[in-house]
Amino acid sequence: MNRTSLIAFSLLFSSTSVFSQEAEFYQCLSNLKEKAIAQGITQATIKDSLDRVKPRPKVVKLDKNQPEFSATFETYFNRRVNAWRIQKGQALWKKHRKLLNQLTVKYGIPGQYILAFWGLETNYGGYKGKRPVIDSLVTLACKPRRGKFFTKELMQALKIKQKNGFSYEKMTGSWAGAMGHTQFMPSAYAKYAVDADGDGKADLWNSEIDALTSAANFLQHLGWTRAERWGREVKLPKGFDFSPIGQQKVYDLEKWKKLGVRMADGRPLVVANMKARLYLPSGHTGPAFLAYNNFKTIMRWNNSSFYAISVGHLADRIAGATQLVIQPPKLPRIPRDELKAMQQSLNALGYDTGKPDGIIGSRTIAALQNFQKKKGLIADGYPSDKVLKILLKSRINSKT
Ligand code: CA
Repeated sequence: MNRTSLIAFSLLFSSTSVFSQEAEFYQCLSNLKEKAIAQGITQATIKDSLDRVKPRPKVVKLDKNQPEFSATFETYFNRRVNAWRIQKGQALWKKHRKLLNQLTVKYGIPGQYILAFWGLETNYGGYKGKRPVIDSLVTLACKPRRGKFFTKELMQALKIKQKNGFSYEKMTGSWAGAMGHTQFMPSAYAKYAVDADGDGKADLWNSEIDALTSAANFLQHLGWTRAERWGREVKLPKGFDFSPIGQQKVYDLEKWKKLGVRMADGRPLVVANMKARLYLPSGHTGPAFLAYNNFKTIMRWNNSSFYAISVGHLADRIAGATQLVIQPPKLPRIPRDELKAMQQSLNALGYDTGKPDGIIGSRTIAALQNFQKKKGLIADGYPSDKVLKILLKSRINSKT
């Protein structure tokens, strides 16, 4: 084969595989159309939605993208709770004071929390995502990884479009299909979006009144407890036993008080008939938090304790609280494969972390705490540099 025909051959070969991928996509799209019609979506809606969809390889890439490092708490938190967000939140509280007070009465959510979600999700509407949501949802629905979930979300998005007469162009959002000021997925939009300004449509892109009311309504349904905080920063006594962290213990505030936990500024802990869990997102050198029932509600919105602490603290700051007493320390980021190796070492030494995945869950924390105790270290369950070095040494010694 000469060079020219070799190039022609390889071009043909690569374009065939692109063709077959495209053919697969359009077959999937045609199945989705049938499904939509069966669920009552009209031809007119399909013409301005599914008929306009193109495959979006970038969306697939973003869905697959597992960051090599997970952010440390310090990086995550400081990016989200900053002076600009606090000041902007306070200014918006003035602007929407009447509405926010009404929402607190009706749904039980204090204004500062609604603002904190809005600030974290889209910078108070500054960035709502520009991708056509229908395209993103079809692309993800046609991939096996989470196809079933995204097919359901797509059907909801089509129903929202049809019900409100929203155009294809209007329905933009994140790569995963989250929409509007507070980044609602279509299923949340369909269930909890409220038309509060009375124009006949729940419009989470263009109506701040609709968006804030919908956020309050959603939070109430996620289980927000009226008149309770999210949690608070606390001060732990010297020599504190950290084992409740890995064991995910939930104690009454009275019990935490008996264990020596105080307010962050050192005053006695304010006790009410409430339960709480302890979090040490940067280990014992960083701030400690007691997380109340509403912390769980925040995690139902976004299943991340870093997110929940950031929402809670941003809300406090918007309401005038001072900064954390202990600032999150700058600690090294640990690559995921190193965390995986750490879990393998712990397993090999008889401290069970489950299947190594490079993600620090409560089982890994508990295993690390047992190892730390055995070595006479502060057993906070945090994979600090020091702990990792001692672990590596123990692993090598155990082999010789
Ligand atoms: Ca409206």
